[in-house]
Formats: sequence, C-alpha cells, structure tokens
Amino acid sequence: MTERIDGHTLLIGLMAYPIRHSMSPTMHNNAFAKLGLNYAYLAFEVGNDQLPAAIQAIRTLDMRGSNISMPNKQKVIPLLDKLDPAAEMIGAVNTVVNDKGILTGYTTDGLGFMKSLDDEGLNIRGQKMTLAGAGGAGTAIAVQAALDGVSDLSIFNRHDAEWDNAVRNVKLINERTNCRATLHALEDRDDFKAEIQDSAIYTDATGVGMKPLENETLVTDPTWFRKDQIVFDTVYAPRTTKLMKVAQAAGVTQVFNGLGMMLEQGAAAFKLWTGEEMPVDYIRHILF
Ligand code: NAD
Repeated sequence: MTERIDGHTLLIGLMAYPIRHSMSPTMHNNAFAKLGLNYAYLAFEVGNDQLPAAIQAIRTLDMRGSNISMPNKQKVIPLLDKLDPAAEMIGAVNTVVNDKGILTGYTTDGLGFMKSLDDEGLNIRGQKMTLAGAGGAGTAIAVQAALDGVSDLSIFNRHDAEWDNAVRNVKLINERTNCRATLHALEDRDDFKAEIQDSAIYTDATGVGMKPLENETLVTDPTWFRKDQIVFDTVYAPRTTKLMKVAQAAGVTQVFNGLGMMLEQGAAAFKLWTGEEMPVDYIRHILF
C-alpha cells in the first residue's frame, strides 16, 4: 500500500452507515494494486445527516468518486449534478463519478446482474424473466434487464411496503422500454408457478434464503422448474441457498448465487472511475 500512495493518489470513498463490514475496500484496493493504478478506496461512516457535507467533500477534495450504500442511496440524488438514465429510472444511486466537479450518479447492481449472466455465456435478451422482489436489488435488476432487451418481465411481490415500488417499476418499464412488465401478487401461488414455468429465468431478489431466513425459499417444489431454465438467487451467503437446492433437485444445471453479481457490480463501478476492467477472477480468489 505505502508503495502506491503518493502525492498524486486519487481517493474513492464508500459512504454508508453501518459500513465497517464491507468487502468493497478490499475488492477495489487489491484491484488497484494488481493493475498498478494510483487510487485508494476508503470506507466512511456517513448517514443521512452527514451526507450533504460528505458529497460536497468529493468536489472539495477532488476525489474521483464514491460508492453510496444504505441509508443514502436515494437521499444522495438531489445532491448530484447528473444522473445516468438507468439510475434515474431505478431511483437510487450506488456509484458517484466526479468529472472536474460535476458529480454523476449511477446504479451498477443491475449491470452486475446482467454481466454475471454474460460471464456464464447466458443471454436472456429477448426472453422472459420472472422476478421475485421489488426492493433495491429487484428494482435495479428489473430496470437493467428491461433496458438491455429482456422481452417480458413478471414481477412478484407480497403486499408489503415495497408493493407501491413494484407498481412504480412496472409502470416505468412499460412506458420507457420495449419490455412488457406485469405485476403479480406473491400470495397467488398458482400464478407464481405458471409464470415461473413460462420463463427462461427465475430470479429471487427478496433475501429469503439469507440469515435469518436461510432455511426458507419462496419455491419449495422442484416440479415448478424446468431443467433448461436459469435459476438465480441474489443471495451469496450461504453460497448454496435453499432455493438453489430445490432447483438442483429439479435437475436445473444453470443455478447461480449472487456472488457473480456482487463482483460485477463492483467491476462496473471500477470501470466508471478508472476506465479499466477489474481483474474479477483475481479478486474472486482474494475475497472468497
Ligand atoms: P430490500 O429490503 O430493498 O427489498 C426486499 C424485497 O424482498 C422487497 O421486495 C420485499 O417485499 C421482499 N421480501 C422481503 N422479505 C420477504 C419475504 N419473507 N417473503 C417475500 N418477499 C419478501 O432489499 P434489497 O436491498 O433489495 O436486497 C434483497 C436481496 O438482494 C438481499 O438478499 C441482498 O443480499 C441481495 N443483494 C445482492 C446483491 C448482489 O450483488 N448479489 C446486491 C444487492 C442486494
């Protein structure tokens, strides 16, 4: 580290609270070192109250940019100068880029989802996806998939606080993209089964399968899946979720956790700041 830091080093931040558990500093600093890039990445405990001053500091200190995480992903928007069109549709920002004092907001979670499928040689463009969840991850995935050419999107959510968000997502996707999006109640199990069976890919973005729900899954019956489908769980701890086990029991071979998405959302931010490709396989070995 000391060999790399000098008077020219550019700082990239991570602004969130709590944040000390994050893997992002390890991810980015190892990638900078591997490629010999003169950047340093540091995590800052920043909540909503400190956010305006922290964002202004990006300009004042001429930082290259920052990642933004909870609770700041929406609150940061009015503090920025520009928004990438996908971030504007998603209504959240996880990456800020500073170009000579002009701050632009991006969301890379959906990009990471699509890129992780590309990495596996899988192309869902022109096909149908059933997606459970319309929170932060579900919204980013839905919008990016629609922008990238997924033809049909059946979004399932339970009637909780995120339902209105799901309504908003479906409306925006239908208005602004060529994708046909429909909203379905997760409580309607027959409809859920039928839509999954009619899809090229089923994606779970609810967090069911992660602690404290690690023994749960929204789909419990292997007969709901076809062998030629893709089943994608955004959870990556545990590495094999209950949903993935059900899919494997059905004989599905294209079954994925959220690890590739997590690495690729970081790689997309890395590219926005540095213009370089993150050495994803090298970082995967360091982190996992
Ligand atoms: P969120 O709280 O914003 O949204 C959660 C969504 O799941 C909502 O739509 C909610 O209605 C639904 N939901 C929650 N509990 C449910 C339950 N018991 N049954 C049915 N639906 C339920 O959360 P988020 O930030 O979108 O994260 C969701 C998941 O995605 C988490 O597991 C998170 O770890 C994962 N994630 C992964 C990545 C990645 O890079 N792999 C990135 C972001 C989030």
